[in-house]
Amino acid sequence: MRVAVIGGGWAGIAAAVELTAGGAEVTLFEAGRVLGGRARGVEIDGLKLDNGQHILLGAYRDTLALMRRVGADPDECFDRRPLQVIDNTGFRLALPRLPAPLNVAVGLFAAKGVGLSEKLRTAWWMEGVKRRGFRLAQDMTVTQWLDAAGQTGALRRHLWEPLCLAALNLPAERASAQLFANVLRDSLGSSRRADTDLLLPRVDLGQLLPAPAGRWLQDRGAQLRLGTRVRAVEDTGNGVRVDGETFAAAVIAAAPQHVGALWPSAATDFAFEPIATVYRKIGPNLKFPFPLTNRLGGHCQWIVDRGNGVLACVLSGHGDWEALDDDALAAELAKEVGLTDPSPWHKVIREKRATFSARPGLARPDFRTACPHVVLAGDYTWADYPATLEGAVRSGLRAAQQLLP
Ligand SMILES: Cc1cc2nc3c(=O)[nH]c(=O)nc-3n(C[C@H](O)[C@H](O)[C@H](O)COP(=O)(O)OP(=O)(O)OC[C@H]3O[C@@H](n4cnc5c(N)ncnc54)[C@H](O)[C@@H]3O)c2cc1C
Repeated sequence: MRVAVIGGGWAGIAAAVELTAGGAEVTLFEAGRVLGGRARGVEIDGLKLDNGQHILLGAYRDTLALMRRVGADPDECFDRRPLQVIDNTGFRLALPRLPAPLNVAVGLFAAKGVGLSEKLRTAWWMEGVKRRGFRLAQDMTVTQWLDAAGQTGALRRHLWEPLCLAALNLPAERASAQLFANVLRDSLGSSRRADTDLLLPRVDLGQLLPAPAGRWLQDRGAQLRLGTRVRAVEDTGNGVRVDGETFAAAVIAAAPQHVGALWPSAATDFAFEPIATVYRKIGPNLKFPFPLTNRLGGHCQWIVDRGNGVLACVLSGHGDWEALDDDALAAELAKEVGLTDPSPWHKVIREKRATFSARPGLARPDFRTACPHVVLAGDYTWADYPATLEGAVRSGLRAAQQLLP
């Protein structure tokens, strides 16, 4: 069975691997020069960086399994640590290495910067959310959800709101509470301790999956057509034509803003949120207590010490920072973070459409189309999650399984 996979992001890669393993003859079309899409490695001034800093969770089970399948070892590729949320105001919540859910309970009660009565109220609320299976009767914004739960204290500002922004790339006022609850269900709410871990990449994003998967696919006879933008996909009745070439089936794994050009009935009218990553070299004497620190009150939301003398400052979602040019933004962040090191080197990477806006009640398209030979993959089709690598990978595996006999 010849199958075309259109789009070589993490969804398309997952689909191509699953199809190849299932015996299909795969041709993977990718418009860009490398695989990876919105999560790819880039080399700038001899430094191996990413198109944007990414953080993964232990809960990304299918992503980790896919990495192993193509020969990338998650134990080597990640600095795996129990979750810690530390910010610039002195707040600290650190999960101990205890079995779940004890680790979350002990971490919560040991958190610095929160009173005991608030901790008790929060533990009680989390228990209730868990009992209801993390299902909300009706979707609403995270702000409305927290208000209704009386979560109005320090934990809201230092924990829930930053976690929401990190997971959904949207501030709590606009983010879907149901999608946020789903992320909590599979991480903090999981009965497996490993799911709550933070996975900080030690290598660039290309080495995590796209490059090993590319080699794995080629070794098994799959064709990779990089730098090839597909213009048309047509239903032939018993198969599909992709730019005039005949295939038994196709997986369209393009981002939501591109899918409509290939398959009009799947067109979406999503809004998008940007992410900027500002990389800056730091001197060997600058050390952070934990490689991931949250920042409140400025432009930058997270700082990641990448461990190779480079710091990544992450700015999530729309904000005033978009009006600043790269030099002004880098200078502003250096001031904000207190970087007095004179190193002038910085690089700003802006992804204008980093993620779709995961607002309450957002309708997500079915991955099946009216044509049995064409299925969709992509983070936006995995309706249980906001835009994440894990959603992209799961969607790709599901699309492939739909086509395999
Ligand atoms: C800066 C940034 C930070 C992020 N941080 C995180 C994070 O910390 N954790 C997390 O889980 N997620 C994060 N995400 C989200 C995550 O990267 C995405 O959800 C995921 O990469 C989406 O993968 P995808 O395969 O669905 O789509 P994409 O990566 O968009 O892949 C689609 C591919 O299709 C190709 N394409 C489109 N049209 C055509 C065509 N006509 N012909 C051929 N090819 C075509 C595109 O070039 C692209 O490579 C972040 C995203 C960004 C941008």
